[in-house]
Amino acid sequence: MPLSGRRSRLAWAITAGSALLFAALLTRQTGVHAQSPGQNQLTVYSPRTSYSVPLLEVNGQPYAGLVELLEPLGSVDARIDGKKYKLHFTPPGGRPLEVQFTGGKDKGKVRGNGYKLPANFILQNGRGYLPLSVTSDLVSKLLATDTEFHAAARRLFIGNIQLRYTLELHKDNPSRLLLGFSSPVNPSIATEPGRVRLTFRREPIVSTGPENVPYSDPLISGASFSEHDGLAELDVTGTAPMMANFADGGRTIIITGAPAAAPVTQEAPAPLPPAPANPQNPSPQPRQPAAPRFLVLIDPAHGGSDIGAAITPSLPEKDVVLALARRVQHELANRGIAAGLLRNSDVAITLDQRATWTNAARPALYIALHAANTGQGVHVFTAMLPAANLSPQGFLPWDTAQAAFLDLSGSVAGSVAAELESRKLPNATLLAPLRPMNNIAAPAIAVEIAPPAGNVDEIASAAYQEQVAQSIAAGVAAVRAKLPEVRP
Ligand SMILES: [Zn+2]
Repeated sequence: MPLSGRRSRLAWAITAGSALLFAALLTRQTGVHAQSPGQNQLTVYSPRTSYSVPLLEVNGQPYAGLVELLEPLGSVDARIDGKKYKLHFTPPGGRPLEVQFTGGKDKGKVRGNGYKLPANFILQNGRGYLPLSVTSDLVSKLLATDTEFHAAARRLFIGNIQLRYTLELHKDNPSRLLLGFSSPVNPSIATEPGRVRLTFRREPIVSTGPENVPYSDPLISGASFSEHDGLAELDVTGTAPMMANFADGGRTIIITGAPAAAPVTQEAPAPLPPAPANPQNPSPQPRQPAAPRFLVLIDPAHGGSDIGAAITPSLPEKDVVLALARRVQHELANRGIAAGLLRNSDVAITLDQRATWTNAARPALYIALHAANTGQGVHVFTAMLPAANLSPQGFLPWDTAQAAFLDLSGSVAGSVAAELESRKLPNATLLAPLRPMNNIAAPAIAVEIAPPAGNVDEIASAAYQEQVAQSIAAGVAAVRAKLPEVRP
């Protein structure tokens, strides 16, 4: 939910003395925005990149823009002279190749050879469009490489880049289904009771054999592959709530039963053993000192039946923050910082569980993530508590466990805000008495993203989330030396 979007928080919004926060509270409303389907598109998978080409419907036939199709693959120079359309495409390291068509005609030339289209070439608003069905052949001729076109699914593969998956059922208790990929994947994951759906928008995942695999297993009853609208989906069905976890750097996704009350993390921080009852009488064999580690715990807020805010009617906050959490984890890993997620699937976790697991894992930093459908930009919160010192016994009152870490939390918040600023993202740092942040015995911040420019659809855009994730990771990396590294 929006961190400042509930009436009950009005009191603290005012006591926080933050005009900005108060203004944000007053302007927030539950907006209802139509979700743009964005499905009328071709997805092109090339060895260098994956991208989408919007399609135009003409007389019920799909057409693709020639410049949009070719530009990500090389350099393009297109000219229109009356009804004549002439395009030069230069593949990387190659020579310019000529493509010619005429508006309203089905005959053209590609690399000097006659080329017949199945329907007329279209000129519209200064752009040239050709029938979707020939995009594969045209790209193949221009790049002199094999292409594979899945016409019904609107997916075009250039070169031998198809990514195949393997399915491996382990009949443990509970059973686990291991999805294996030859390179890391980052699907969006949706769960509902008895079902986990992985949606691949950028990865050239193709079917490996039977598209429906039934299992005779008490938990996992089947897996199926489908592709449509420029994306691929893997659907796993089961008899009980399930969750998905990433492993092996994103090359494996493990689907198993959702635990009733266990931390769901990618790199599950093992709870620490209890301290010796009598420190005067240490155990005769002192433990080997473990290697120092620097662990960041990311807490995607909400989950399960607690959907948080409805960013759009079909996009709950719980999904937005989970996707963002994975990006933050990835960006931290790029900077050599290990991070775990408090949940990596759509499960409900109480605030007390979040605090308990975090404190047991003793991370160097805790980051809670929220999203809001109103407001603008990114708000970075630290806890609003009176500053206090850690008592000599190391005892921390639960309600104010965060007090001893406020200075460090503030440093992290400031550093993240500076990175947001340098990326020209609207941002503000604020105080709020937020649970479970007040109960976290480690430096802690909460980050709430709102649309960058007031358009709610942009909140889920990969480009925006990536900018936010990079800001958070860069902000953490910049103050890493200040944060105490914790020994497990
Ligand atoms: Zn929230």
